[in-house]
Amino acid sequence: MSYKEPAPIPDVENPLDSMMSRFNAAIKILGLPDEMYDILKVPARQVIVGLPVTMDDGRIKVFEGYRVIHSTILGPGKGGVRLDPGVTLDEVRALAAWMTWKCAVVDIPYGGAKGGIACNPREMSAGEIERLMRAYTLGMLDIFGPDKDIPAPDMGTGPREMAWLMDEYSKAKGMTTHAVVTGKPLVLGGSLGRTEATGRGVTVSAISAMEKLKLNPYRATAAVQGFGNVGSNAALLLKERGVSIVGISDVSGAYYNDKGIDIEKAIEYRNQNNGILEGFDGAEPIPAEDLLFLPVDLLVPAAKEDVITKHNASKIQAKLIVEGANGPTSATADDIINDKGIMVVPDILANAGGVTVSYFEWVQNRMGYKWPLDRINRRSDRVMKDAFNNVYATSEKYNVNLRLAAYILAIDKVSSSYKFRGGYG
Ligand code: GLU
Repeated sequence: MSYKEPAPIPDVENPLDSMMSRFNAAIKILGLPDEMYDILKVPARQVIVGLPVTMDDGRIKVFEGYRVIHSTILGPGKGGVRLDPGVTLDEVRALAAWMTWKCAVVDIPYGGAKGGIACNPREMSAGEIERLMRAYTLGMLDIFGPDKDIPAPDMGTGPREMAWLMDEYSKAKGMTTHAVVTGKPLVLGGSLGRTEATGRGVTVSAISAMEKLKLNPYRATAAVQGFGNVGSNAALLLKERGVSIVGISDVSGAYYNDKGIDIEKAIEYRNQNNGILEGFDGAEPIPAEDLLFLPVDLLVPAAKEDVITKHNASKIQAKLIVEGANGPTSATADDIINDKGIMVVPDILANAGGVTVSYFEWVQNRMGYKWPLDRINRRSDRVMKDAFNNVYATSEKYNVNLRLAAYILAIDKVSSSYKFRGGYG
């Protein structure tokens, strides 16, 4: 099975620029002093490590590993580790800052961080990925720690990689340390509900937004871009809430069925087909980018950054966009989407269910105790619903869209904590 390259992104913009422009707008609305802007603009720490890895053919290949801790004002750094050919330091910087705002929006006691290694895990063996993860962990030994910086899965990583990270850290420190990383396998101190958590939070956000728009989920249609952990779980849970999923896509292309796609079947097919949907016969193949322009009520971009841009935003027909990915809408598209009257539940709110259950995992690890699934789901749904309501109320208070409202809420929280800590003023 050979993998096709993802469909070309129509307008590759720098996610850091997108993040900064929204950050800037929120800072202005809040009337914060320039110092605060400068403090939050510059990451607290940026680490680059060289990672020589012996490949299966015996040659040594050197990778560059990044970890950016954007802020520790609200707590230790928190955020995933991404393995993807497109990883750059700028991307990791933007993703780290998004983690700061995301944790603040859902009110969990973490700062923001992100890690990444530019590599193509689809072309690497399990052994090569393991050696890379172990080298990365050793490179970041002084950065990571349960009270310092807690990594987690992101694109290209999952429980398997987190287990290697936890093992390498524990061996190097001479003590088993579950709480150094979240998103672990269940038997290694992982949490029930963590795998589905981001998709579940996307669903809670979507249903909350539909209530505001007076859209009945049982009469609504949706398209979901990306069929990895976030997209496939969001599709499954939205379907359970009555939404008809008429379009899905992944690196192999997009698939459309106006009668609604059997998502369980698509997941089963993907699992047995090397992780991709290529050849899935429960829907018609359509051009990859057309997924975004389907005549649906809800669009869930759950793949990666900058897929909705000024070049294609005008073609979107959905009434509601719920961002499962981080940064799927570039800042240049914001005005077009606003003018079209589309409601956007932004990434730093919509996909925060993952880090919320990561937080529960960390709490359980520190208690040495396991919570049952119903407790986790109930609590994470509550967190997501409260966050949605807070962001919605902020948008009404400042008369801004939900994205700007989420930034306002987050930046207000981080800057006032900074003040209380005696940092400035
Ligand atoms: N990588 C996920 C995110 O972007 C999860 C981070 C975490 O659980 O720490 O939110």
